[in-house]
Amino acid sequence: MPYRIAVAGVGKIARDQHLPCIGKNRNFALVAGVSRSAKIDGVPNFENLSALKASKLKVDCVALCTPPAVRLAMAREALDHGWHLLIEKPPTPTVGELLAMEVYAKKKKRVLYATWHSRYNKSVDMAKAKLKGKHVDFLRMTWKEDVHKWHPGQAWIWQPGGFGVFDPGINALSIVTKILPEPLFVDSATIEVPANAATPIGADIRFKRGDGTSASLSAVFDWRQKTDEIWEIEIGTRDGLKLHLKNGGSVLEVNGKTVHKAVLQEYEDIYAKFARLLKARKSEVDPSPLQLVSDCFMLGKPVVVEPVS
Ligand code: NAP
Repeated sequence: MPYRIAVAGVGKIARDQHLPCIGKNRNFALVAGVSRSAKIDGVPNFENLSALKASKLKVDCVALCTPPAVRLAMAREALDHGWHLLIEKPPTPTVGELLAMEVYAKKKKRVLYATWHSRYNKSVDMAKAKLKGKHVDFLRMTWKEDVHKWHPGQAWIWQPGGFGVFDPGINALSIVTKILPEPLFVDSATIEVPANAATPIGADIRFKRGDGTSASLSAVFDWRQKTDEIWEIEIGTRDGLKLHLKNGGSVLEVNGKTVHKAVLQEYEDIYAKFARLLKARKSEVDPSPLQLVSDCFMLGKPVVVEPVS
């Protein structure tokens, strides 16, 4: 029997990816929508999780596609109702909330799957394999896009817990924390915050290796890109290997030659994995990308810039 799933937070990503991918996966049957205002066609819709519970509809799991700032309370409620959980990235506004959610899911004996969609493509996996056992001494992440194109009319991204440019930037961090053979640490950062916002529009970050050896490790995240987006990661190793992940990690170049162009099916893979986790009754929670964002704020120098329109 398929897992009966409800989608909560019916916004851009729920419609772009979650609903189509649930529709394609025979392990899941969409049974409800949970939204303050939107409606999903063909299933009953409820204003909140309590109303869904009160309806007595049978539900096995919930995909939480709301902004991160409101996730912990919703996650706890879903877990209290006995439902397993899949959550969008970034999982929560702070590491503390994510760890608390993980503990709560364990206590309730329910599966918690904190997704990082950019990790799901073959080029990323190939890059990880190539870096195994290597000493990385060069890293440059360039994640630049137009905020108005990718987050049209979304107010939450500029509010506390909305992440600002770290909302896309954390995708780059989710890739490097998957593929690097050793963890990296924030050394310093400059964080540009518009005068009328609580969250950054740009960030320039320097990282360091944990062993103290010299390395050039950096990231630039920018939401003021007016032309096409640039989502790239360049990596160099002490023995001369050069990797270049382009197009959000889907194209892999090794020493200047394209070796793989992945067909993107990130959310198809996420739902295939969720089915496996549910079957095995296993959770998956990796806080490392969120920890790096948190450390940027801990060590970063804030700079006030032009208001955002
Ligand atoms: P969105 O279009 O603003 O949708 C989020 C939905 O969550 C809203 O439509 C709203 O639905 C619900 N919601 C519940 N409480 C809310 C609150 N306090 N403030 C605002 N909305 C609230 O955002 P999105 O782009 O889908 O992003 C949602 C999550 O997915 C984020 O964590 C984001 O990083 C992630 N994500 C987004 C993309 C993308 O392309 N946009 C890609 C990958 C991942 P109701 O009003 O119907 O309740």
